[in-house]
Formats: sequence, structure tokens, C-alpha cells
Amino acid sequence: MLLDDIGPEGQQAIGQARVLIVGLGALGCGVADWLARAGVGHLRIADRDIVEHTNLQRQVLYCHADAQDSRPKAIAAARRLTEVNPDIEVDPHVTDVTAATVESLAAGCDLIIDGLDNLDTRYLINDLCVREGLPWIYGGAVGTGGLVMPLLGPHCGGRIRWDTPTGCLRCVFPDPPPPGTLPTCDTAGVLGPAVGAVTSHQAALAMSILVGRTGDALDRTMHAIDPWSGESRRMALPGPRDACPCCSGGTFDWLEGGRGDHATVLCGRGAVQVHPPTPGTIDLALLADRLQSHGQIQHDEHVLRCTLPDDISLTVFADGRALISTDDTAVARTLYDRYIG
Ligand SMILES: [Zn+2]
Repeated sequence: MLLDDIGPEGQQAIGQARVLIVGLGALGCGVADWLARAGVGHLRIADRDIVEHTNLQRQVLYCHADAQDSRPKAIAAARRLTEVNPDIEVDPHVTDVTAATVESLAAGCDLIIDGLDNLDTRYLINDLCVREGLPWIYGGAVGTGGLVMPLLGPHCGGRIRWDTPTGCLRCVFPDPPPPGTLPTCDTAGVLGPAVGAVTSHQAALAMSILVGRTGDALDRTMHAIDPWSGESRRMALPGPRDACPCCSGGTFDWLEGGRGDHATVLCGRGAVQVHPPTPGTIDLALLADRLQSHGQIQHDEHVLRCTLPDDISLTVFADGRALISTDDTAVARTLYDRYIG
């Protein structure tokens, strides 16, 4: 409240805000921690996964016992956030964020924070935010750096308003790249403090939106930051593009068109087949290189087989499809995003 830009009114606005955080990995943890401490009145948090020991290097809401007991991330995070600030409401959801669940998760929220580990679900969030007129804050971190941008679409309404909209995610990146082309945290690693830099930035943007900053005071740029090399760049975000199928064309391929809805249980097979979010071919030799330190690998130009820890077998085809030895589609999607990306 002592900050001129926030003051008692800003603090009151933060206290009345309802924010949804999708994904409670490294990014979601960091942003949730800041927003709980800032006094955001209602935090809805969603994640499909459980805490594992390898998460502790960067996922700041969890402790050793959470991993030991395989606690769901949403539950462990809610417990910690309530300890940090018992005066706010924390509403945890242990669920896969899909076209079927995202609408009810976002109902009544003023802002969505991206704490996701895959691009597919980010396009789903983008569809929902454009359709429902909600702002969201993109975040991503891998290796020693990350990317942050506020996406304040032209249709945003409700309690929060701004004068100059940005384009949507599809105005910036019209389509996600083919699977297997980008490094993931689990194949390339991620520096803990790089995550911290990204989440601090996301949280500051969130607070700035929630207190109603507008005009030049509201940062509407994309930031690429790398605290390891010390390099950072900012790029102006485009406004809404006429050719955008989503915010100009009004088509919501992920939310309504079944795009990204790609995991099916193969009955009697003990496996789930995951289709790539975007059709295309995958370079299996490249993938084999990236997965080398994670398990035993055999591959030719058509198929790659990898045995992961816990005896989970991953079979990847050149068309991007994968068979994963589990009968749980959420687990299969998690493993696909983690190892294939
Ligand atoms: Zn757009």
C-alpha cells in the first residue's frame, strides 16, 4: 500500500480479485506464491500431476514430504498457500485442463496465469480468453531463460479494462511448432532462478493489471529474459491481426474444434495413444539424442522405443504419435509433454 502505484485502493482491488492459475509446476508455484502474499482474494489453482523429488529444485511451494507422499500438486500447493496467507481463499482442483474442464475452471475469474508445460494447452487457454474476454499472462522457462507476455485481447471486458489491446497468442505465434522440435524442462533442464525471473515478471504484470493500470503505464511487451547470461530483450506485441483465425476470425480450434484433444486409452493394451497436437513428422534421431540420458533407447526411422524410470515404456512413431504404457490419459499427456514436448 505504500507504493504510489498501488495505494489502499489498489490493495483493495487486489483483495477483490479472482485469479486462475493453470499448471502448478515451476511457473505456477512461483506466481501463486507472490499473488497469495500480495493478498489476491481468491486463487483458483489447477494441476493434473503429483509432486516428485525432481520438482523440488524449482517448484517452490513443495517440500520433501510432498514428494515422499506423492501428493497432488494442487493439494500440496493449496496447503502451503493457506499457511502463507490464511486470509485468502484458495480453491484447488486436481484435474487435467482440457476443452471439457477449462470453462468451469475459469468461471468468475478476472485473469488467468499460464503455469503450463505445453503449448497445446496454452492455445486452449487463448481460445477461452478470446471468446470470454479474459486477459491472460503467458510464461515459459527452459534452459537458463524464459519468455513472458501479457495477452490483453480486444474483446476483454468485465471488471478490468484497458485502452490498447494486444493481439492474442495466435496473432503472435499462429500455430504451435510440430511436437519434438522444442526443448522441454525435462529434456534440456531448467535453471531454478530463471524460473524465478519469469514468475516475478508474471506476478508483477498480474498485479499491474489487477490494480487497473492502463495506457503507457501498463507493460504490453514480450520479454525474453536470461538471468544466466544477463541478456534480456523486449519486443512490442502486435495488435490484433486481421488474418488471425481466433481473435479476428472467431474460430476456436482448441476449445470447440477438438484440436489438442489427443489422448485415448487403448482397451486391453495397457497403453494410452497420444496424438501429436499438431500433425507432422518427427525426427526420431533427434529425439533419441535428447532422451538418451532418460532411459534405454532403440530406434530406426519409423519408431523409437524408450524405457523410462518406473518401467514405463514409450513408443514414438515418426508421425508424432506415441504409445505410453499407462491406462491413465492424464499421466500419458504429462509424459508426452515432458519427453516429446
Ligand atoms: Zn489473434
